[in-house]
Amino acid sequence: MAGNWKMYKTAGDTTVFFERFLPLVATSTHADIAICPTYVNIPAAVAAAGNSRVGIGAQNLYWAKEGAFTGEISGPMLKAAGCEYVIIGHSERRQYFGETEETVLKRTLAAIEHGLKPIVCVGERLEERESNNTETVLRAQFDGGIAPLTAEQFAQITIAYEPVWAIGTGKTATPDMAADAHRFIRGLVAARFGDAAAAATRILYGGSVKPDNVKGLMAQPEIDGALVGGASLEAASFASIVNF
Ligand code: PEP
Repeated sequence: MAGNWKMYKTAGDTTVFFERFLPLVATSTHADIAICPTYVNIPAAVAAAGNSRVGIGAQNLYWAKEGAFTGEISGPMLKAAGCEYVIIGHSERRQYFGETEETVLKRTLAAIEHGLKPIVCVGERLEERESNNTETVLRAQFDGGIAPLTAEQFAQITIAYEPVWAIGTGKTATPDMAADAHRFIRGLVAARFGDAAAAATRILYGGSVKPDNVKGLMAQPEIDGALVGGASLEAASFASIVNF
């Protein structure tokens, strides 16, 4: 269960969130829990999470280890700051910051090389779904961004299926729609990496997951967890999603 805080919260807000959130998930051993704050709030999140079961993730990384790349952050820097996870290829990065399959792959390889666990996002836009191109888009994203990994590298990643039309819009894919997409993605994994890898892969659903719809989504055996934006910003709301 992963929370993507996007460009929200200060360091102070981060500390307050954890004070409220940790007691609510103290006995929640059924799921891995991750919070992905903005880069500058990673130290506050790592300090506040302490020895709890909540892992901290970044929302992106650059693929070079270091160098003249003003404004970028590298895998070793995130690792040294205490990150365990990193979100890669979020639709907002694809839409506003020119993320491509090629850059998704470069970031994923860099994350793995530096010991971070990538959460790699895929998902179709509304017009792609409406023109019956969902599977074509998912296949292209998988083929370009994920399929070139080796089996060992692939074992390190989590996939997040996030239909773009459901992100931040209040429109959730129905559990059946989400499960269909997850089944399709798992089929792509099976074809490339084998049945055992497909069964072991965690595929998260993301797109307006809320306390009142998480149960229906999680009832689908194909859905292994959730990547949550808006509803992860408030401690009680994200805890109730974690504890669905
Ligand atoms: C996201 O940012 O990954 C996301 C799914 O956002 P929201 O839950 O707000 O739709």
